[in-house]
Amino acid sequence: MRFSPEKLSIPDQRMKPFIDPDEIWNLINNVRPDKTRVREVIAKSLDKHRLTLEETAVLVNSVGTDLFDEIREGARTLKEKVYGNRIVLFAPLYVGNKCTNNCQYCGFRVSNKDAVRKTLTDSEIIKEVEALEDNGQKRLILVYGEHPEYSAEFIAHTVRLVYNVKKGHGEIRRVNINAAPFDIEGFRKVGEAGIGTYQIFQETYHPEAYKWYHPGGRKKDYEWRLTALDRAQEAGIDDVGIGALFGLYDWRFEVLSLVRHTNHLEACYNVGPHTISFPRIKDALSLNISNKYETSDEEFKKLVPILRLAVPYTGMILTAREAPDVRREVMQYGVSQIDGGTKLELGSYSESKNEEQNLNREQFRINDPRSLADVIDELLDHGYLPSFCTSCYRMGRTGEHFMEFSVPGFIKRFCTPNAILTLSEYLCDYATEDVATKGWDVIEKNLQTLEKGVAASTRDKIEKIKKGERDLYF
Ligand code: SAM
Ligand code: SF4
Repeated sequence: MRFSPEKLSIPDQRMKPFIDPDEIWNLINNVRPDKTRVREVIAKSLDKHRLTLEETAVLVNSVGTDLFDEIREGARTLKEKVYGNRIVLFAPLYVGNKCTNNCQYCGFRVSNKDAVRKTLTDSEIIKEVEALEDNGQKRLILVYGEHPEYSAEFIAHTVRLVYNVKKGHGEIRRVNINAAPFDIEGFRKVGEAGIGTYQIFQETYHPEAYKWYHPGGRKKDYEWRLTALDRAQEAGIDDVGIGALFGLYDWRFEVLSLVRHTNHLEACYNVGPHTISFPRIKDALSLNISNKYETSDEEFKKLVPILRLAVPYTGMILTAREAPDVRREVMQYGVSQIDGGTKLELGSYSESKNEEQNLNREQFRINDPRSLADVIDELLDHGYLPSFCTSCYRMGRTGEHFMEFSVPGFIKRFCTPNAILTLSEYLCDYATEDVATKGWDVIEKNLQTLEKGVAASTRDKIEKIKKGERDLYF
């Protein structure tokens, strides 16, 4: 057997669970903030400090619409002042839906005999990626069920395959993954394939609820999943994404737990999660959950700004699970990434059929089926700057959200110019005339917000892009 010093220094044992349900419930039940306290907490966040659990409970427990309006206003201000108007775009690519787990909310669970199982072959992956590139995508998240076929080696292979697919000016510059957790060695293997973010959702952080929803397979082990990102960090993957599936348990508990998870990673590894996701449960084949903890639109519109304020320097991802009107509204409260042109059925990007979703073939129902082009069109209409930027990651500037947040001028020097350059590529290669006209207007407006020198070198690069050069960034 190969000698591995890491294995000696980090014994193969689970790292400590860090969620104490009593502590969290105690805060939810006992923190009773007045207006002054709520305002203090908002001010602390606007002063660029991450909130404690107790402070997050202050926001969660602030009842009364005027206070909630202040929380939303705070989140909006934080987003505008700190992050500006960029929205990063990506698409999911389901690689395989075989699964040995039995998650009660998921159409792919093993007991769903009607689910049509499929794993894309190499040539099917290539076809799918080419179709995604033809639409202008530059960033993907690959998604897998949990199955012996989807080993770390297999996943690493698919990641490398995707990076190698180039069509015309198209290429995928960042491949994130959402896959079942590995052991340290497994994380090392997928890390070596050059993944961007490793994303995993705890689903619910409440141990008892977790047990109920996950009766079978490897995933029934709450602690194995909870400590997944500790193992990822030990394996050298420090770009990680966390999330909770809202609707499984009390939303307030999940929000506090997400903050607790963030604190844990910061305390142990000196780096918090790159992103937080907050999906809500959507219809799926034989969905087997009650609506006791259903997270209403109203609650959703509370939890997004609370998360923004609680973890001010973490990216926030909002997916096509949500309908366009919900997306439109909560985007203002601090979302930094959304998907566009999303399709969940395996192999469907290259089939170009525009049919109703078939839940026998897909994990859940999406509510925003619009094409990437339509999503970009709307973003431009609403004054956002759509971005496909992958620069920080490729320049080794990891933890970019932290830098955006804490390094004065970082956004104006790097993020806005890079967003402009990637949007310029999109407009040259994929946009309709109408979208291109809007896009160049938005680019011009954004150029005018940049410092003279930066604006000039950005204009320079835009001219090169117009002449056919690609992948220019700062
Ligand atoms: N199989 C891997 C795992 O469980 O970690 C990959 C994740 S799964 C394909 C992606 C995520 O979709 C899950 O972590 C879960 O949060 C979410 N999901 C599952 N069923 C859902 C549903 N009915 N509605 C919305 N999201 C769902
Ligand atoms: Fe399998 Fe993931 Fe679905 Fe659970 S959520 S059944 S692990 S694909």
